[in-house]
Amino acid sequence: MSSGTGNPMASTMQPHQLAIADIFRHGKRVHAGSEVATFEGESTRRATFAEVGERVERLAGALSGLGIRPGDRVGTFSWNTQEHLEVYMAVPCMGAVLHTLNIRLFPEQLAYVVNHAADRVVIVDDSLVPLLARAKEELTTVEHFVVVGEGDASGLGDVLRYEGLLAGAEASPEWPSLDEAAAAAMCYTSGTTGHPKGVVYSHRSTYLHSLAACAASSIGLLETDRVLPVVPMFHAMAWGLPYAAWMTGCDFVMPGRFLQAEPLARLIADERPTIAGAVPTIWNDLLHHAEDHEVDLSSFRLVVCGGSAVPRSLMEAFEERHGVEIVQAWGMTETSPLGAIARPPKGVAPEEEMDWRARTGRVVAGVALRIVDDGGSELPWDGEAVGEIEVRGPWITGSYYGDDDSEKFHDGWLRTGDVGTVEPNGFVQITDRAKDVIKSGGEWISSVELENEIMAHDSVLEAAVIGAEDEKWGERPLACVVAKPGVEISAAQLRDHLDGRVAKWWIPERWAFVDQVPRTSVGKFDKKVLRARHEDGDLEIVVES
Ligand code: ADP
Repeated sequence: MSSGTGNPMASTMQPHQLAIADIFRHGKRVHAGSEVATFEGESTRRATFAEVGERVERLAGALSGLGIRPGDRVGTFSWNTQEHLEVYMAVPCMGAVLHTLNIRLFPEQLAYVVNHAADRVVIVDDSLVPLLARAKEELTTVEHFVVVGEGDASGLGDVLRYEGLLAGAEASPEWPSLDEAAAAAMCYTSGTTGHPKGVVYSHRSTYLHSLAACAASSIGLLETDRVLPVVPMFHAMAWGLPYAAWMTGCDFVMPGRFLQAEPLARLIADERPTIAGAVPTIWNDLLHHAEDHEVDLSSFRLVVCGGSAVPRSLMEAFEERHGVEIVQAWGMTETSPLGAIARPPKGVAPEEEMDWRARTGRVVAGVALRIVDDGGSELPWDGEAVGEIEVRGPWITGSYYGDDDSEKFHDGWLRTGDVGTVEPNGFVQITDRAKDVIKSGGEWISSVELENEIMAHDSVLEAAVIGAEDEKWGERPLACVVAKPGVEISAAQLRDHLDGRVAKWWIPERWAFVDQVPRTSVGKFDKKVLRARHEDGDLEIVVES
């Protein structure tokens, strides 16, 4: 018997280091004919993987010419486009570090993350120059702005143009050999409290995560797919889709800046993507757009949805009205992001499948997951015990970049800040984010479940539930509701609708009818802003009991 430490038996496998360059080479050669289509509103640009690959090699040459060396950070400030994909490939392959910047950050936050990461070059779409220019004076490390497109860039001073740079560049001859633990890319969380925090992905974590995304039991990409990443490439690496799709040879349908329901519907009808990924608010907008417009979603075989809880009513409506299957997934910037995906388990009757699909998801192979109580003790996977979810694994971050936030880690596990239950078969149900939970009379009310049930009402477009201070109960739910255009709905009607759907004592007395639920920088409902509005007395509240 071996003792574990002094095992004398060596593996015969080659000591190959996992690298994004392997993903790149494979896609470029094996899937040379696959295409990247970028939507420009009225027309679509196209390039094959072979063409994109050749431009990637020249981009790396150009960036070397600008002095970019292994380990240096190169930022992107971009929509989802062919050029953004080129940077996704070139920068890690040359050993430098891709830093995807969230275009919706406030100027101070943007300056903070660029300076904190010490980006030397930022590659920016011409349409976004004015946004970046607002932070320009505060940027202390950027030596060059490289502008994609020929639009006005005067707000950034002297700039280089992407196409000019490529035209004058020699292809980088060979990619350097890298340690698989080397940094490949980084992304900052949106920083709900304090400064945004940086997560740095390695070549190894990215490679393994890409394989996990390709597995048939998760997203299951195929060469025959056409992938539409609506999720921004600055939001948790577009959920890993760019590398996974390049590896598989899927065609890309890049939406550029056209993320509103109307152009998106046109793009879908014209380009016929088979798989897409986006947060629920986008799919909700598209669904409502389809109520009074001709929309053809028949090309989809699968729509991945996550980033916040996916309402069951949304999944049912997509299936019933458009024959489109939505698959819910869970993850975080810190988890690369794939952590769980809600494929129904075997042995489930067809009419029960939705009960499983409406849950948060089943933990994917490669990620270890547990729930713990307030004292940090592990709780059982019995579908009943509620605790904070902790995860660990090869694509889960073990720290934040240049930020000692030890509270977010627990004996080597990442504390997710999500609270929920786990079934014996590994199916997770998130009931809330720790900071969103509502405690009424000492008992928890799940804001996620209440929102789900309110949004199941035909007249409701959006709903977000926050905690409101209450003299008697400590806290009670306050439901902020957006009615569908032209529809009247009252608090009393909604209370009736909830009767029988949730425990009686969960039903909110306080209701606010608003024009829109505010969104975070990645398009999720922003309860922080709602809470602040409520504290400032800006919400008009109807009380009904
Ligand atoms: P942000 O903090 O800006 O929302 P992330 O995208 O990294 O940035 O957010 C991760 C969080 O999103 C998770 O911790 C969880 O609270 C939420 N989330 C993601 N997917 C789901 C899901 N399917 N159901 C419920 N919550 C989800």
